[in-house]
Amino acid sequence: MVGSSKESMYNHIPKKVPQSNDAVFLHVTSNNTIYGTQWKTFPTPKNPNGYLVADMSSDIFSRPIDVSQFGLIYAGAQKNMGPAGMTLVIVRDDILGKVDREIPTMMNYQTHIDKGSMFNTPPVMSIYGVNRSLHWLKDNGGIQAIEEKNKRKAEKLYYEIDRNPLFKSPIPQEDRSLMNVPFVFADGGDEEGFLSFCDHRGLKTLKGHRSVGGFRASIYNAMPEAGVDALIQAMQDYTV
Ligand SMILES: *Cc1c(COP(=O)(O)O)cnc(C)c1O
Repeated sequence: MVGSSKESMYNHIPKKVPQSNDAVFLHVTSNNTIYGTQWKTFPTPKNPNGYLVADMSSDIFSRPIDVSQFGLIYAGAQKNMGPAGMTLVIVRDDILGKVDREIPTMMNYQTHIDKGSMFNTPPVMSIYGVNRSLHWLKDNGGIQAIEEKNKRKAEKLYYEIDRNPLFKSPIPQEDRSLMNVPFVFADGGDEEGFLSFCDHRGLKTLKGHRSVGGFRASIYNAMPEAGVDALIQAMQDYTV
């Protein structure tokens, strides 16, 4: 572990990462789903022969990325792609096959590459769901358009969090996630009360992750702008 903001409840992206010269890879999580931080630009591995690996589970297809910056990208389907049950992997050919120790068959990417991702029975419903949502994404202007929409959604929600004296964001502006927006009461308060106020308006699962408390609005690609507007309205209508 070369960079972390653990000492401050993971509330920011570490800016100075002391890397070793001979590290084979540098791993980042592009978007921290629980704490709501997001890498806006990615760090470069110090080792010129090293490569960047990213868990992009919670922000894949939410913004354009330069795939050539990475040796390996992996992402579970269930946030921005479709139903749980499948994982997307993008791996650079030249980093494969470099390990001497025995890798269990199932854990070896080459197994899946050789079998066209059908070494075992594929979860066809999940894959079909992802196919539909990728078509939806394409039909709605693709990644560029969804990024603009995601920015608009997040900006107006953060604006309300900053403006509304009842609430505050634990995350500094420059590291705020466009996908997961955590917020807390500025001066404490009845969290269950706000959650049930929202629940009555059809605004569900706003409870923060069990490890952090407070509130968290996950506004993945599939969340329409109207959903964000409804939350903002609830925040404005809520009185203690
Ligand atoms: C949701 C999530 C995971 C966990 O995915 P599982 O399929 O539940 O194991 C891992 N990493 C990130 C960044 C996530 O958002």
